[in-house]
Amino acid sequence: MSALTTHNATAEEVYLDRLLAAQLLLPTDLPGIYARGSAFAQIMEGLEHAITRYGRTKETILLRCPPVLPRSIVEKCGYFQSFPQLLGCMCSFTGGTTEHDALMQAVDAGDNLLPHLELADVVMAPAACYYVYPYLAGTLPTEGKTTDIENWCYRHEPSLNPMRMRSFRMREFVHAGTPEQALGFRDRWIERAQEFLTLLGLTATVEAASDPFFGAGERLMAAQQRAQALKFELLIPIVSDERPTAVMSSNYHKDHFGHLFDIHTPDGQTAHTACLAFGMERIVLALLAEHGLQLSQWPRTLQARLEVN
Ligand code: ATP
Ligand code: ZN
Repeated sequence: MSALTTHNATAEEVYLDRLLAAQLLLPTDLPGIYARGSAFAQIMEGLEHAITRYGRTKETILLRCPPVLPRSIVEKCGYFQSFPQLLGCMCSFTGGTTEHDALMQAVDAGDNLLPHLELADVVMAPAACYYVYPYLAGTLPTEGKTTDIENWCYRHEPSLNPMRMRSFRMREFVHAGTPEQALGFRDRWIERAQEFLTLLGLTATVEAASDPFFGAGERLMAAQQRAQALKFELLIPIVSDERPTAVMSSNYHKDHFGHLFDIHTPDGQTAHTACLAFGMERIVLALLAEHGLQLSQWPRTLQARLEVN
């Protein structure tokens, strides 16, 4: 299946076509949903290990969670308010045999199935770190807590740009502690993240960024986020200098999650949190663009670092 249509293909679409032709990604009928081919999966695995070696310490708490998240968590965090356009909600069939007949008729006719289903109590995880905060409730140790989490994330942004997938993996280090600890963690990690990418032969620039808030308040929210320097992205011009891709990002949430989930520092203050996210697929896509689609041609040191050959 070719991603190219009759219109003038963008550099991103041309890149997708090359990835599909080399079976690095395998297509489905849907934009933004791909299987990962053998070489792609190998790089992902190597990257995971490299991040573990680079970022995890003795004190880091390891957390691995299902790719679905209780809907109550995203509701509590205001996700429906800020990013309803990105959320993947789930539905389940809860009827009996009569309702099942009606469902089957709708399936056979290609009708809208929604009237036959019920909204589920889980949603697709939109980011990895939402799972972390509920488990931090209570009083933190003096040094705060750092959690290492990785998860499949879903965002409803169908696109032929391979850097914008609908289902992708996010690895995050999340720190909760005093404001100084959370900010210190954020600042240290922005530097360390750049250094990590350099070890992979990638050059990233750091820029203040904002999230794609929904609706009328969008501009104001985004401007506030930038003015307060809450979000930074590490950008790499993967296929286009004009449209560089955020391969990693850091967020400082101040006391937002501490407040929502009752997380406190030992002196009774509401905890502050910050997270650093690795966009796993985007880093792999940057590596392939920089070093070539043939892993056997990659520099030896990089092959060793990512356990590929
Ligand atoms: P963008 O500005 O490109 O939309 P974002 O600001 O929404 O990204 P975050 O919410 O900060 O991204 O997510 C953390 C990381 O996850 C990003 O830095 C990126 O590397 C990765 N990521 C985000 N959206 C996608 C996507 N649709 N496909 C692949 N990776 C993604
Ligand atoms: Zn996060």
